[in-house]
Amino acid sequence: MELQFSRHRRLRTSANMRALVRETHLHVEDFIYPLFIIEGENIKNEVPSMPGVFQISMDLLGSEIDEIVSLGIKSVILFGVPAEKDECGTGAYHDHGIVQGATRLIKERHPELIVVADTCLCEYTSHGHCGVVEGNRVLNDESLDLLVQTAVSQAKAGADIIAPSNMMDGFVVAIRAGLDEAGFEEVPVMSYAVKYSSAFYGPFRDAADSTPQFGDRKTYQMDPANRIEAMREAESDVREGADFLIVKPGLPYLDIVRDVKNNFNLPVVIYNVSGEYAMIKGAAQNGWIDEKAVVLEMLTGMKRAGADLIITYFAKDAARWLKEQ
Ligand SMILES: [Zn+2]
Repeated sequence: MELQFSRHRRLRTSANMRALVRETHLHVEDFIYPLFIIEGENIKNEVPSMPGVFQISMDLLGSEIDEIVSLGIKSVILFGVPAEKDECGTGAYHDHGIVQGATRLIKERHPELIVVADTCLCEYTSHGHCGVVEGNRVLNDESLDLLVQTAVSQAKAGADIIAPSNMMDGFVVAIRAGLDEAGFEEVPVMSYAVKYSSAFYGPFRDAADSTPQFGDRKTYQMDPANRIEAMREAESDVREGADFLIVKPGLPYLDIVRDVKNNFNLPVVIYNVSGEYAMIKGAAQNGWIDEKAVVLEMLTGMKRAGADLIITYFAKDAARWLKEQ
């Protein structure tokens, strides 16, 4: 066989040449920015393990939202941090719950900003699990009712997208039916279709105060070692009426993102989770990496892997950096 010599470097000779052949582009429209709304007044608590991320009380939310909109970000996802919790997570589906209130405020101030409501119980339950607990078990079907109530009350408050995250079986079909019945057939469901039981969620649990008080979430979230199972999870959510598919976490699961993208014709969303954020922030604060370069490379890699949208704590920074470029 005759050996061939290839000159790949011809297409890398200048910044403009590289721009001409670039395959993947980041846009500010790709980002969904997570917000933690805490009950109380005049609170802006920085999450210790997530520098630059704050729990914000409702009275301070307006200026935060103004900034987000001014950066060109099109969408936020809301998490509530209630003052009181109980066994059944009542705060999640209360019409005057914290996410419902924040949604109303945002829709009044910036009606065009897309509000994604995270639909789960773990921030509101005293035991910190994502569903109804009996003894040491998290009950599936009993949890669905409460999830549906949560979704409907969020839609009533004006949420544009419902994002159920609790990984109970049948949660998409239950929520879809509940929304339709309540007259919200136009509100899409962004399902946490493929959600792994991950150690990368640690800092989020500080932010949302949602650490399970006993056991772990391994009976409902997925085993990190499994790939084929991810296809089963995504497939059932598609059948149940999901409009978007989330893969969570992001960085250690880019193979799964590509699989989901190749196998299903729905928008794919990566959740670039708290642990991924914390690692980069920590290293950057120590001067070990170039934060901006690393973040933009990571987000580009996520899109290259097949993500259409990225839920990321870096959304505001990335929006600024993209503007500068
Ligand atoms: Zn949960």
